[in-house]
Amino acid sequence: MAELPEQVDVVVIGAGPSGAIAAALLNRAGIKVLVLEREQFPRFSIGESLLPQCMQYIEEAGFLPAVRDAGFQFKNGAAFAKGECGTYYNFEEKFTPGHGTTFQVERARFDKLLADQAQAQGVQIAFEHSVTAYREMDEGAVLDYQSAAGKTGQVVCRYVLDASGFGRVLPRLLDLEIPSDLPPRNAAFTHVNDHITDPEFDRNKVLIVVHPEHRDIWYWVIPLAGGKCSTGVAASPEQLAARGASSPLELVQTMHAEVPQLQKLLQRAEWCYPANQLSGYSRNVKHLATDRYALLGNAGEFLDPIFSSGITIAMRSSSMAAKLVARQLAGETIDWRREYEAPLREGVDTFRVFVDAWYSGLFQDVIFFPNQAPSVREMISSILAGYAWDKDNPFVAQSQRRLNALGQFCASESD
Ligand SMILES: Cc1cc2nc3c(=O)[nH]c(=O)nc-3n(C[C@H](O)[C@H](O)[C@H](O)COP(=O)(O)OP(=O)(O)OC[C@H]3O[C@@H](n4cnc5c(N)ncnc54)[C@H](O)[C@@H]3O)c2cc1C
Repeated sequence: MAELPEQVDVVVIGAGPSGAIAAALLNRAGIKVLVLEREQFPRFSIGESLLPQCMQYIEEAGFLPAVRDAGFQFKNGAAFAKGECGTYYNFEEKFTPGHGTTFQVERARFDKLLADQAQAQGVQIAFEHSVTAYREMDEGAVLDYQSAAGKTGQVVCRYVLDASGFGRVLPRLLDLEIPSDLPPRNAAFTHVNDHITDPEFDRNKVLIVVHPEHRDIWYWVIPLAGGKCSTGVAASPEQLAARGASSPLELVQTMHAEVPQLQKLLQRAEWCYPANQLSGYSRNVKHLATDRYALLGNAGEFLDPIFSSGITIAMRSSSMAAKLVARQLAGETIDWRREYEAPLREGVDTFRVFVDAWYSGLFQDVIFFPNQAPSVREMISSILAGYAWDKDNPFVAQSQRRLNALGQFCASESD
């Protein structure tokens, strides 16, 4: 690998979706950027179901043709099931203009594709280089790194974008972590060769299934290309521990066995991939940016996987931050709190209202309500498609009030 530069304009920590998009956007703006990535790609990551809104940022970065041609599983909506009730949202029938379809992706291949695209555009990525320290200087910052081979080095830069995901490099180094206001939840998951033959099963949609007795336990089935699915379960740590499983795979299988519909759907599945468990994934930080650094994607706040919003929020943060960094490096003074943190968090807060309402059951009453007005369905569909920043949508502009009113109406009509 080429020698790493000792000085660049911007260092991006991490080459996941937020890092690859941010680095490409900066490079396209003529800014010299170095990405330091701890792992070698491809590497496993959870989070396979994209939302249509994120296609806008993939397009901005110039990655759209490559993503479209990569043979990923097409996605046009989300299906929900609980007992005998089933419903789905078609993302092309949505209130907000913009992309209406997207893909479900094996992240190892997707993340490598984005990183390859960024490199092809001229971004330098140093794989197997882990950032270990951060110090601020009169102007900019200096980062220490260590390669997998044990070699250490330093790079000086004018700005740092932390896209390290759950690595959470700057939150840890700068003591920025604060507890999430969401209760702790865990997930256990794996991939299967699904052999699903049910003609009703729509591979173009993520399927979310609610546990028959506990509405705060839910499962995902995300069809991937090549006859595979990602499947897993999210629940409180206590609910999962109560199953007494001796391995993540046993836990996933035990939990799936509690849902007759999933048992039937996956009756021929080959459980031949490693399983994993993640605990306490909801995270938050004191602030998202200063004039020296910004936290992107999961390195900042992570809410909950229920609506597959993680990559969309991550890519949006990259798009916003890259534009602001370009302006700051050109000599403008940027109010990072007002121009980055506050507007980014607006959409995150919209998702938060829906996440809270999912676990309280209110949003489940809305989703499974059979006679939803088409205009309301389109507004909800927009949020599920990731358009959580579109203030023209009443369910964005007044999420809490609108959702409470709708939920109460649906619950009372269903009684
Ligand atoms: C159970 C679960 C299910 C999910 N499902 C979905 C879903 O269906 N759809 C969705 O959109 N999102 C989903 N998510 C969220 C999604 O996984 C994340 O939001 C997304 O991966 C964030 O991207 P990122 O680029 O911020 O971070 P990451 O993808 O985590 O990338 C961070 C990169 O930084 C690197 N790194 C870490 N530390 C260092 C270091 N010290 N130095 C250098 N590099 C470093 C890592 O190796 C990694 O490659 C899910 C999350 C969970 C927990």
